[in-house]
Amino acid sequence: MELPSGLICLAEAFPSKLYLVGGAVRDAIRGVETTDFDLASALSPDEVRRALDGTRFKVHDSSPKLGTLILTCGDSRFEHTTFRTDSYPEGSGKHRPDGVVFTDDINADCRRRDFRCNAIYYDINEKKIVDPLGGEEDVRRGILRTTRSAREVFCEDGLRIMRLVRFVSVLGFSSDGEAKEAATELSGRLADVSAERVRDELDKTLAGDNSFDALQLASETGALDVILPELAANRNVEQPARFHAYDALRHAFRTVQEARNDVKLAALLHDVGKAEAIARDGNMHRHAEYGAVTAREITKRLKYPNATIAETEILVREHMYDINANAHETKLRRFVARNHAVIDKLIALVRADSAGTGLFSDSPRADRFQAVLDKMKKEGVPFTPAELAINGNDLKKLGFSGKDIGETMGALIALCVDGRLKNDKCVLLAQAERMRRSGRTL
Ligand code: ATP
Ligand code: MG
Repeated sequence: MELPSGLICLAEAFPSKLYLVGGAVRDAIRGVETTDFDLASALSPDEVRRALDGTRFKVHDSSPKLGTLILTCGDSRFEHTTFRTDSYPEGSGKHRPDGVVFTDDINADCRRRDFRCNAIYYDINEKKIVDPLGGEEDVRRGILRTTRSAREVFCEDGLRIMRLVRFVSVLGFSSDGEAKEAATELSGRLADVSAERVRDELDKTLAGDNSFDALQLASETGALDVILPELAANRNVEQPARFHAYDALRHAFRTVQEARNDVKLAALLHDVGKAEAIARDGNMHRHAEYGAVTAREITKRLKYPNATIAETEILVREHMYDINANAHETKLRRFVARNHAVIDKLIALVRADSAGTGLFSDSPRADRFQAVLDKMKKEGVPFTPAELAINGNDLKKLGFSGKDIGETMGALIALCVDGRLKNDKCVLLAQAERMRRSGRTL
Protein backbone atom coordinates (compact mmCIF):
# COMPACT_ATOMS: atom_id res chain seq x y z
CA MET A 1 0.00 0.00 0.00
CA GLU A 2 1.34 3.46 -0.99
CA LEU A 3 1.44 5.64 2.14
CA PRO A 4 2.42 9.30 2.65
CA SER A 5 5.98 9.63 4.01
CA GLY A 6 4.67 11.50 7.09
CA LEU A 7 2.68 8.43 8.06
CA ILE A 8 5.68 6.12 7.75
CA CYS A 9 7.74 8.53 9.95
CA LEU A 10 4.91 8.57 12.48
CA ALA A 11 4.75 4.78 12.63
CA GLU A 12 8.53 4.65 13.15
CA ALA A 13 8.32 7.16 16.00
CA PHE A 14 5.48 5.19 17.63
CA PRO A 15 6.36 2.97 20.60
CA SER A 16 3.62 0.46 19.74
CA LYS A 17 2.06 -0.99 16.63
CA LEU A 18 0.26 1.69 14.64
CA TYR A 19 -2.57 0.72 12.33
CA LEU A 20 -4.39 2.38 9.50
CA VAL A 21 -8.09 1.50 9.68
CA GLY A 22 -11.45 2.34 8.11
CA GLY A 23 -11.94 3.99 4.74
CA ALA A 24 -8.24 4.20 3.85
CA VAL A 25 -7.69 0.42 4.09
CA ARG A 26 -11.05 -0.40 2.50
CA ASP A 27 -10.38 1.95 -0.39
CA ALA A 28 -6.80 0.73 -0.89
CA ILE A 29 -8.14 -2.81 -1.33
CA ARG A 30 -10.63 -1.43 -3.88
CA GLY A 31 -7.73 0.28 -5.66
CA VAL A 32 -9.08 3.75 -4.85
CA GLU A 33 -6.82 6.52 -3.55
CA THR A 34 -7.69 8.19 -0.27
CA THR A 35 -6.70 11.35 1.56
CA ASP A 36 -8.44 10.57 4.84
CA PHE A 37 -6.18 8.54 7.14
CA ASP A 38 -7.79 7.11 10.27
CA LEU A 39 -5.29 5.53 12.65
CA ALA A 40 -5.71 3.27 15.64
CA SER A 41 -3.44 1.75 18.27
CA ALA A 42 -3.44 0.39 21.80
CA LEU A 43 -1.84 3.61 23.14
CA SER A 44 -4.09 5.81 25.27
CA PRO A 45 -4.33 9.50 24.29
CA ASP A 46 -1.91 10.41 27.12
CA GLU A 47 0.57 7.79 25.96
CA VAL A 48 0.36 9.12 22.40
CA ARG A 49 0.99 12.65 23.69
CA ARG A 50 4.05 11.52 25.66
CA ALA A 51 5.38 9.42 22.80
CA LEU A 52 5.21 12.31 20.34
CA ASP A 53 6.51 14.97 22.73
CA GLY A 54 9.65 16.50 21.23
CA THR A 55 9.03 14.98 17.77
CA ARG A 56 7.90 17.02 14.77
CA PHE A 57 4.33 15.78 15.25
CA LYS A 58 1.82 18.06 16.95
CA VAL A 59 -1.02 16.55 18.95
CA HIS A 60 -4.46 18.24 19.08
CA ASP A 61 -7.54 17.18 20.99
CA SER A 62 -10.51 16.13 18.88
CA SER A 63 -12.93 14.04 20.97
CA PRO A 64 -11.02 13.34 24.22
CA LYS A 65 -13.82 11.17 25.65
CA LEU A 66 -13.82 8.98 22.55
CA GLY A 67 -10.02 8.74 22.55
CA THR A 68 -9.57 10.63 19.29
CA LEU A 69 -6.60 12.92 18.68
CA ILE A 70 -5.54 14.81 15.59
CA LEU A 71 -1.85 14.40 14.75
CA THR A 72 -0.35 16.92 12.36
CA CYS A 73 3.03 17.43 10.77
CA GLY A 74 3.30 20.21 8.18
CA ASP A 75 0.40 19.67 5.80
CA SER A 76 -0.20 16.07 6.91
CA ARG A 77 -3.13 15.37 9.19
CA PHE A 78 -4.08 12.04 10.75
CA GLU A 79 -6.79 11.04 13.18
CA HIS A 80 -5.73 8.61 15.88
CA THR A 81 -8.28 6.73 17.96
CA THR A 82 -7.26 4.51 20.85
CA PHE A 83 -8.60 0.93 20.67
CA ARG A 84 -11.84 1.01 22.62
CA THR A 85 -15.15 -0.61 23.37
CA ASP A 86 -18.31 1.48 23.40
CA SER A 87 -21.60 1.20 25.16
CA TYR A 88 -24.73 3.15 24.30
CA PRO A 89 -27.69 4.42 26.29
CA GLU A 90 -30.43 1.78 26.25
CA GLY A 91 -33.41 2.42 24.01
CA SER A 92 -32.11 5.32 21.94
CA GLY A 93 -30.30 5.38 18.63
CA LYS A 94 -28.27 8.43 19.62
CA HIS A 95 -24.99 8.51 17.80
CA ARG A 96 -22.74 9.16 20.81
CA PRO A 97 -21.66 6.34 23.14
CA ASP A 98 -22.01 7.10 26.84
CA GLY A 99 -19.55 4.46 28.02
CA VAL A 100 -16.11 4.30 26.41
CA VAL A 101 -13.43 1.94 27.70
CA PHE A 102 -9.95 1.91 26.22
CA THR A 103 -8.48 -1.49 25.49
CA ASP A 104 -5.28 -2.94 24.03
CA ASP A 105 -7.25 -5.63 22.22
CA ILE A 106 -7.67 -5.09 18.49
CA ASN A 107 -10.29 -7.88 18.48
CA ALA A 108 -12.46 -5.77 20.77
CA ASP A 109 -11.88 -2.52 18.87
CA CYS A 110 -12.96 -4.03 15.56
CA ARG A 111 -16.31 -5.06 17.02
CA ARG A 112 -17.34 -1.55 18.05
CA ARG A 113 -17.12 -0.45 14.41
CA ASP A 114 -20.06 -0.47 11.99
CA PHE A 115 -19.28 -2.71 9.02
CA ARG A 116 -16.73 -5.46 8.53
CA CYS A 117 -15.33 -3.70 5.46
CA ASN A 118 -14.57 -0.75 7.76
CA ALA A 119 -12.87 -2.91 10.40
CA ILE A 120 -9.76 -3.94 8.46
CA TYR A 121 -6.41 -2.82 9.91
CA TYR A 122 -3.09 -2.28 8.20
CA ASP A 123 0.01 -2.63 10.35
CA ILE A 124 2.11 0.20 8.95
CA ASN A 125 5.56 -1.00 10.10
CA GLU A 126 4.99 -4.66 9.28
CA LYS A 127 3.20 -3.72 6.03
CA LYS A 128 0.53 -6.33 6.58
CA ILE A 129 -3.23 -6.49 6.87
CA VAL A 130 -4.85 -7.57 10.13
CA ASP A 131 -8.43 -8.58 9.44
CA PRO A 132 -10.15 -10.09 12.48
CA LEU A 133 -13.66 -10.14 10.95
CA GLY A 134 -12.92 -11.10 7.37
CA GLY A 135 -13.70 -7.64 6.02
CA GLU A 136 -11.33 -7.99 3.09
CA GLU A 137 -13.54 -10.68 1.59
CA ASP A 138 -16.54 -8.33 1.96
CA VAL A 139 -14.70 -5.57 0.11
CA ARG A 140 -13.87 -7.96 -2.71
CA ARG A 141 -17.48 -9.16 -2.88
CA GLY A 142 -18.85 -5.64 -2.48
CA ILE A 143 -21.11 -6.32 0.48
CA LEU A 144 -21.90 -4.46 3.67
CA ARG A 145 -22.15 -6.72 6.70
CA THR A 146 -22.20 -5.43 10.24
CA THR A 147 -19.43 -6.32 12.69
CA ARG A 148 -21.91 -7.97 15.10
CA SER A 149 -25.60 -8.73 14.87
CA ALA A 150 -27.06 -6.02 12.68
CA ARG A 151 -29.80 -5.41 15.22
CA GLU A 152 -27.26 -4.65 17.91
CA VAL A 153 -25.20 -2.39 15.65
CA PHE A 154 -28.17 -0.29 14.44
CA CYS A 155 -29.86 -0.23 17.84
CA GLU A 156 -26.84 1.51 19.32
CA ASP A 157 -26.49 4.21 16.71
CA GLY A 158 -29.22 5.02 14.20
CA LEU A 159 -26.79 6.98 12.07
CA ARG A 160 -25.27 3.66 10.99
CA ILE A 161 -28.40 3.08 8.89
CA MET A 162 -27.62 6.24 6.97
CA ARG A 163 -23.99 5.13 6.72
CA LEU A 164 -25.22 1.86 5.19
CA VAL A 165 -27.18 3.86 2.61
CA ARG A 166 -24.23 6.16 1.99
CA PHE A 167 -21.77 3.31 1.42
CA VAL A 168 -24.15 1.71 -1.08
CA SER A 169 -24.09 4.97 -3.02
CA VAL A 170 -20.40 5.81 -2.72
CA LEU A 171 -18.85 2.33 -2.87
CA GLY A 172 -21.40 0.61 -5.09
CA PHE A 173 -21.63 -2.16 -2.48
CA SER A 174 -24.89 -3.84 -1.51
CA SER A 175 -26.34 -4.41 1.89
CA ASP A 176 -26.48 -8.02 3.03
CA GLY A 177 -29.92 -9.36 3.91
CA GLU A 178 -29.46 -9.23 7.67
CA ALA A 179 -28.35 -5.58 7.63
CA LYS A 180 -31.29 -4.62 5.43
CA GLU A 181 -33.75 -6.44 7.63
CA ALA A 182 -32.40 -4.85 10.81
CA ALA A 183 -32.31 -1.41 9.19
CA THR A 184 -35.97 -1.87 8.27
CA GLU A 185 -36.88 -2.85 11.79
CA LEU A 186 -34.86 -0.07 13.40
CA SER A 187 -35.09 2.84 10.98
CA GLY A 188 -37.03 4.75 13.66
CA ARG A 189 -33.73 5.12 15.55
CA LEU A 190 -32.71 7.68 12.97
CA ALA A 191 -35.09 10.09 14.64
CA ASP A 192 -32.63 10.28 17.56
CA VAL A 193 -29.75 11.49 15.39
CA SER A 194 -28.98 15.19 14.99
CA ALA A 195 -30.18 16.93 11.82
CA GLU A 196 -26.63 17.95 10.90
CA ARG A 197 -25.34 14.38 10.90
CA VAL A 198 -28.30 13.14 8.86
CA ARG A 199 -27.75 16.00 6.41
CA ASP A 200 -24.04 15.19 6.01
CA GLU A 201 -24.80 11.54 5.28
CA LEU A 202 -27.58 12.54 2.88
CA ASP A 203 -25.20 14.83 0.99
CA LYS A 204 -22.63 12.07 0.66
CA THR A 205 -25.35 9.67 -0.47
CA LEU A 206 -26.56 12.08 -3.14
CA ALA A 207 -23.01 12.66 -4.37
CA GLY A 208 -22.23 8.94 -4.80
CA ASP A 209 -22.26 7.20 -8.17
CA ASN A 210 -24.97 4.76 -7.10
CA SER A 211 -27.44 7.17 -5.54
CA PHE A 212 -30.46 5.50 -7.18
CA ASP A 213 -29.77 2.14 -5.51
CA ALA A 214 -28.91 3.82 -2.22
CA LEU A 215 -32.09 5.91 -2.17
CA GLN A 216 -34.11 2.82 -3.05
CA LEU A 217 -32.57 1.15 -0.01
CA ALA A 218 -33.43 4.19 2.12
CA SER A 219 -36.99 3.88 0.85
CA GLU A 220 -37.29 0.12 1.28
CA THR A 221 -35.94 0.21 4.85
CA GLY A 222 -38.19 3.13 5.81
CA ALA A 223 -35.19 5.35 6.63
CA LEU A 224 -36.55 7.80 4.08
CA ASP A 225 -39.88 7.98 5.92
CA VAL A 226 -38.03 9.11 9.03
CA ILE A 227 -35.70 11.70 7.52
CA LEU A 228 -37.86 12.91 4.60
CA PRO A 229 -41.49 11.90 5.26
CA GLU A 230 -42.77 14.50 2.78
CA LEU A 231 -40.79 12.83 0.02
CA ALA A 232 -41.71 9.31 1.12
CA ALA A 233 -45.37 10.38 0.62
CA ASN A 234 -44.66 10.23 -3.13
CA ARG A 235 -44.13 6.46 -2.96
CA ASN A 236 -46.54 4.76 -5.40
CA VAL A 237 -47.87 8.09 -6.65
CA GLU A 238 -48.45 7.01 -10.22
CA GLN A 239 -47.62 9.27 -13.15
CA PRO A 240 -48.89 9.41 -16.73
CA ALA A 241 -47.13 6.68 -18.71
CA ARG A 242 -46.69 9.08 -21.63
CA PHE A 243 -44.24 11.14 -19.58
CA HIS A 244 -42.89 8.73 -17.00
CA ALA A 245 -41.55 5.22 -16.61
CA TYR A 246 -41.50 5.53 -12.80
CA ASP A 247 -43.74 6.49 -9.92
CA ALA A 248 -43.07 9.93 -8.41
CA LEU A 249 -40.62 8.68 -5.79
CA ARG A 250 -38.47 6.55 -8.05
CA HIS A 251 -38.51 9.36 -10.59
CA ALA A 252 -36.96 11.64 -7.93
CA PHE A 253 -34.25 9.04 -7.26
CA ARG A 254 -33.56 8.62 -10.97
CA THR A 255 -33.37 12.39 -11.37
CA VAL A 256 -30.73 12.55 -8.61
CA GLN A 257 -28.73 9.85 -10.35
CA GLU A 258 -28.88 11.83 -13.61
CA ALA A 259 -28.20 15.26 -12.06
CA ARG A 260 -25.02 17.26 -11.94
CA ASN A 261 -23.49 17.27 -8.47
CA ASP A 262 -24.51 20.84 -7.60
CA VAL A 263 -28.22 20.20 -8.25
CA LYS A 264 -28.64 16.79 -6.65
CA LEU A 265 -30.49 18.08 -3.59
CA ALA A 266 -32.91 20.05 -5.78
CA ALA A 267 -33.27 16.95 -7.97
CA LEU A 268 -34.27 14.90 -4.93
CA LEU A 269 -36.87 17.47 -3.86
CA HIS A 270 -38.05 18.87 -7.19
CA ASP A 271 -41.35 16.92 -7.22
CA VAL A 272 -41.81 16.72 -3.46
CA GLY A 273 -45.13 18.58 -3.82
CA LYS A 274 -46.81 15.93 -5.99
CA ALA A 275 -48.49 13.91 -3.25
CA GLU A 276 -49.72 17.12 -1.60
CA ALA A 277 -51.02 18.50 -4.90
CA ILE A 278 -53.05 15.36 -5.51
CA ALA A 279 -54.39 15.39 -1.96
CA ARG A 280 -55.39 19.05 -2.18
CA ASP A 281 -56.45 19.52 -5.79
CA GLY A 282 -56.88 16.02 -7.22
CA ASN A 283 -54.21 16.79 -9.82
CA MET A 284 -50.51 17.70 -9.97
CA HIS A 285 -50.73 21.10 -11.67
CA ARG A 286 -49.52 23.13 -8.69
CA HIS A 287 -46.94 20.65 -7.40
CA ALA A 288 -43.98 22.95 -8.04
CA GLU A 289 -45.57 25.72 -6.01
CA TYR A 290 -46.46 23.43 -3.07
CA GLY A 291 -43.13 21.64 -3.37
CA ALA A 292 -41.14 24.86 -3.11
CA VAL A 293 -42.70 25.58 0.29
CA THR A 294 -42.07 22.00 1.45
CA ALA A 295 -38.50 22.04 0.14
CA ARG A 296 -37.85 25.15 2.23
CA GLU A 297 -39.21 23.42 5.34
CA ILE A 298 -37.12 20.31 4.71
CA THR A 299 -33.83 22.10 4.03
CA LYS A 300 -34.41 24.29 7.07
CA ARG A 301 -35.11 21.29 9.26
CA LEU A 302 -31.93 19.59 8.03
CA LYS A 303 -30.02 22.80 8.82
CA TYR A 304 -28.69 23.47 5.35
CA PRO A 305 -26.99 26.86 4.89
CA ASN A 306 -29.39 29.73 4.16
CA ALA A 307 -28.10 30.06 0.60
CA THR A 308 -28.92 26.38 -0.09
CA ILE A 309 -32.40 26.77 1.44
CA ALA A 310 -33.17 29.78 -0.76
CA GLU A 311 -31.68 28.30 -3.91
CA THR A 312 -33.42 24.94 -3.53
CA GLU A 313 -36.76 26.67 -3.07
CA ILE A 314 -36.32 28.65 -6.29
CA LEU A 315 -35.17 25.61 -8.27
CA VAL A 316 -38.15 23.58 -7.10
CA ARG A 317 -40.59 26.43 -7.77
CA GLU A 318 -39.31 27.14 -11.27
CA HIS A 319 -38.53 23.64 -12.55
CA MET A 320 -41.83 23.41 -14.47
CA TYR A 321 -41.59 26.81 -16.15
CA ASP A 322 -42.71 26.73 -19.80
CA ILE A 323 -43.50 23.04 -19.57
CA ASN A 324 -44.90 23.03 -23.12
CA ALA A 325 -41.75 24.73 -24.44
CA ASN A 326 -43.77 27.36 -26.29
CA ALA A 327 -43.34 30.60 -24.28
CA HIS A 328 -42.71 33.72 -26.31
CA GLU A 329 -39.03 34.73 -26.42
CA THR A 330 -39.59 37.95 -24.45
CA LYS A 331 -41.19 35.98 -21.65
CA LEU A 332 -38.26 33.59 -21.66
CA ARG A 333 -35.77 36.45 -21.57
CA ARG A 334 -37.54 37.90 -18.54
CA PHE A 335 -37.59 34.49 -16.89
CA VAL A 336 -33.85 34.05 -17.46
CA ALA A 337 -33.12 37.54 -16.13
CA ARG A 338 -35.29 37.06 -13.06
CA ASN A 339 -33.54 33.79 -12.25
CA HIS A 340 -30.10 34.71 -13.53
CA ALA A 341 -28.40 33.70 -10.27
CA VAL A 342 -29.62 30.09 -10.59
CA ILE A 343 -30.31 29.75 -14.31
CA ASP A 344 -27.34 27.49 -14.96
CA LYS A 345 -28.47 25.14 -12.19
CA LEU A 346 -32.09 25.35 -13.30
CA ILE A 347 -31.11 24.24 -16.79
CA ALA A 348 -29.10 21.36 -15.29
CA LEU A 349 -32.12 20.38 -13.16
CA VAL A 350 -34.53 20.49 -16.11
CA ARG A 351 -32.18 18.20 -18.07
CA ALA A 352 -31.91 15.77 -15.16
CA ASP A 353 -35.70 15.85 -14.70
CA SER A 354 -36.15 14.86 -18.31
CA ALA A 355 -33.56 12.07 -18.18
CA GLY A 356 -35.07 10.98 -14.84
CA THR A 357 -38.36 10.09 -16.52
CA GLY A 358 -36.60 7.02 -17.89
CA LEU A 359 -38.06 7.87 -21.31
CA PHE A 360 -36.30 10.93 -22.73
CA SER A 361 -32.65 11.61 -23.32
CA ASP A 362 -33.05 15.22 -24.41
CA SER A 363 -34.84 18.31 -23.13
CA PRO A 364 -36.05 20.85 -25.69
CA ARG A 365 -37.06 23.09 -22.79
CA ALA A 366 -33.55 23.15 -21.31
CA ASP A 367 -32.17 23.72 -24.82
CA ARG A 368 -34.42 26.77 -25.23
CA PHE A 369 -33.43 28.23 -21.84
CA GLN A 370 -29.79 27.71 -22.74
CA ALA A 371 -30.16 29.26 -26.20
CA VAL A 372 -31.89 32.34 -24.78
CA LEU A 373 -29.28 32.66 -22.03
CA ASP A 374 -26.43 32.37 -24.54
CA LYS A 375 -28.03 34.96 -26.78
CA MET A 376 -28.52 37.40 -23.91
CA LYS A 377 -24.94 36.93 -22.78
CA LYS A 378 -23.71 37.54 -26.31
CA GLU A 379 -25.74 40.76 -26.44
CA GLY A 380 -24.17 41.82 -23.12
CA VAL A 381 -27.57 42.07 -21.41
CA PRO A 382 -27.10 43.21 -17.80
CA PHE A 383 -28.72 41.11 -15.07
CA THR A 384 -27.62 43.35 -12.20
CA PRO A 385 -26.99 47.12 -11.79
CA ALA A 386 -23.25 46.36 -11.58
CA GLU A 387 -23.40 44.93 -15.11
CA LEU A 388 -25.10 48.00 -16.53
CA ALA A 389 -22.75 50.12 -18.68
CA ILE A 390 -23.61 53.24 -16.64
CA ASN A 391 -23.62 53.71 -12.88
CA GLY A 392 -25.36 55.87 -10.29
CA ASN A 393 -22.88 58.73 -10.69
CA ASP A 394 -23.57 58.93 -14.40
CA LEU A 395 -27.26 59.33 -13.58
CA LYS A 396 -26.52 61.95 -10.90
CA LYS A 397 -24.66 63.99 -13.51
CA LEU A 398 -27.84 63.92 -15.60
CA GLY A 399 -29.76 65.33 -12.63
CA PHE A 400 -31.23 62.17 -11.07
CA SER A 401 -31.29 61.89 -7.31
CA GLY A 402 -32.60 59.72 -4.47
CA LYS A 403 -34.65 56.66 -5.29
CA ASP A 404 -35.04 57.75 -8.93
CA ILE A 405 -31.48 56.54 -9.51
CA GLY A 406 -32.23 52.93 -8.53
CA GLU A 407 -35.58 52.96 -10.32
CA THR A 408 -34.06 54.30 -13.52
CA MET A 409 -31.31 51.71 -13.45
CA GLY A 410 -33.95 49.01 -12.97
CA ALA A 411 -35.94 50.36 -15.91
CA LEU A 412 -32.84 50.44 -18.13
CA ILE A 413 -32.01 46.84 -17.21
CA ALA A 414 -35.59 45.80 -18.04
CA LEU A 415 -35.30 47.44 -21.49
CA CYS A 416 -32.03 45.61 -22.14
CA VAL A 417 -33.57 42.33 -20.98
CA ASP A 418 -36.41 42.80 -23.47
CA GLY A 419 -33.90 43.46 -26.23
CA ARG A 420 -35.20 47.00 -26.72
CA LEU A 421 -31.98 48.71 -25.64
CA LYS A 422 -28.28 47.98 -26.01
CA ASN A 423 -26.09 47.88 -22.90
CA ASP A 424 -23.92 50.66 -24.23
CA LYS A 425 -22.98 53.79 -22.30
CA CYS A 426 -24.06 56.32 -24.98
CA VAL A 427 -27.32 54.50 -25.68
CA LEU A 428 -28.16 54.21 -21.98
CA LEU A 429 -27.32 57.85 -21.24
CA ALA A 430 -29.51 59.03 -24.12
CA GLN A 431 -32.39 56.84 -22.89
CA ALA A 432 -31.91 58.05 -19.30
CA GLU A 433 -31.99 61.64 -20.49
CA ARG A 434 -35.26 60.98 -22.34
CA MET A 435 -36.69 59.43 -19.20
CA ARG A 436 -35.64 62.38 -17.06
CA ARG A 437 -37.24 64.86 -19.45
CA SER A 438 -40.47 62.92 -19.75
CA GLY A 439 -40.53 62.03 -16.06
CA ARG A 440 -41.34 58.44 -17.02
CA THR A 441 -39.26 55.31 -16.99
CA LEU A 442 -40.45 53.97 -20.34
P1 ATP B 1 -14.86 7.88 4.67
O1 ATP B 1 -13.71 8.47 5.44
O2 ATP B 1 -14.54 7.36 3.31
O3 ATP B 1 -16.08 8.74 4.73
P2 ATP B 1 -14.77 5.90 6.70
O4 ATP B 1 -15.23 4.47 6.72
O5 ATP B 1 -13.29 6.11 6.87
O6 ATP B 1 -15.33 6.53 5.40
P3 ATP B 1 -15.09 7.65 8.95
O7 ATP B 1 -16.29 8.42 9.35
O8 ATP B 1 -13.84 8.36 8.54
O9 ATP B 1 -15.57 6.64 7.82
O10 ATP B 1 -14.78 6.68 10.17
C1 ATP B 1 -13.61 5.87 10.25
C2 ATP B 1 -13.97 4.51 10.79
O11 ATP B 1 -14.54 4.65 12.09
C3 ATP B 1 -15.02 3.76 9.99
O12 ATP B 1 -14.46 3.07 8.91
C4 ATP B 1 -15.59 2.84 11.01
O13 ATP B 1 -14.74 1.75 11.26
C5 ATP B 1 -15.60 3.71 12.26
N1 ATP B 1 -16.84 4.46 12.41
C6 ATP B 1 -17.12 5.73 12.02
N2 ATP B 1 -18.36 6.11 12.33
C7 ATP B 1 -18.92 5.05 12.96
C8 ATP B 1 -20.18 4.80 13.55
N3 ATP B 1 -21.15 5.72 13.55
N4 ATP B 1 -20.38 3.60 14.13
C9 ATP B 1 -19.39 2.65 14.14
N5 ATP B 1 -18.20 2.82 13.59
C10 ATP B 1 -17.95 4.00 13.01
MG1 MG C 1 -12.34 7.94 7.10
